[in-house]
Amino acid sequence: MEILVRDFVKENTDKLDAAGISDASVDIWLLLEHFADIKKSEYFANQDMQISKIQADQIEEAVEKRINHIPLQHIIGETEFMGLTFKVNENVLIPRFDTEILVDEVVKYVGDGFLNVLDMCTGSGCIAITISDMCDNVTVTAADISKDALDIAKENNTLNQTDVTFVESDLFENVEGKFDVIVSNPPYIRTEEIENLEEEVKMHDPHLALDGGESGLDFYQAIAKQAKDYLNESGMIFFEIGFDQAEEVSNILKENGYKDIVVKKDLAMYDRVVYAKKG
Ligand code: GLN
Repeated sequence: MEILVRDFVKENTDKLDAAGISDASVDIWLLLEHFADIKKSEYFANQDMQISKIQADQIEEAVEKRINHIPLQHIIGETEFMGLTFKVNENVLIPRFDTEILVDEVVKYVGDGFLNVLDMCTGSGCIAITISDMCDNVTVTAADISKDALDIAKENNTLNQTDVTFVESDLFENVEGKFDVIVSNPPYIRTEEIENLEEEVKMHDPHLALDGGESGLDFYQAIAKQAKDYLNESGMIFFEIGFDQAEEVSNILKENGYKDIVVKKDLAMYDRVVYAKKG
């Protein structure tokens, strides 16, 4: 039995809408692409397109999961970041579009320089791997406290044919050597705010990757302090920050002797990245 894509999309988008899932039709099209290899653009060229009952059943099973707020990325097991594919599961933060701004800034700074880069709290490896992919002459090391996260990051390194070295480490504990750039998107949510996050995030992203302590600033404090011992002269530190943390994180950097502190906004015009030079 064949089912018209047109009817299928309508019916299942309505189901997700009714369950209060935002961007329902985006999710349905991503599921169609994943399970039936049908792109929205192809459908518009052939609006009588059909899918098999088996494909429809698979997608409907996924829709049920989505109704239960399981993130789409966990259902299909992967996501896209800076045009590359990353495997994800419950042990890593799902890479966010906002983080692309951080990578952009690092890539602009690195240019075609022969630099040593460290990604602290690498999670899925998305930052380290995209920098390794985009910059020809860099050597990239990535650290994370979670072995389970590093397992995924290593798979992503292989998947994207990049050359990142991984270290299991509680911040700098097992990190060796000196770096020209230290980049980090550390956990930065205030502990008490985690319960207010949407269900997809608070139930499915690892709390280890979200929780920045009571002030949300624990990791900025620890990393800014310790990074000085691991940065070369005039080395640079790049942080992703929460939209309301620019002033506090800039102050932390200042107190730790960094200079030339710059704040960058994301596309929604929220403060998103802070970088500075080792003083
Ligand atoms: N560096 C990873 C990312 O940006 C993980 C960040 C984290 O776990 N806080 O997605």
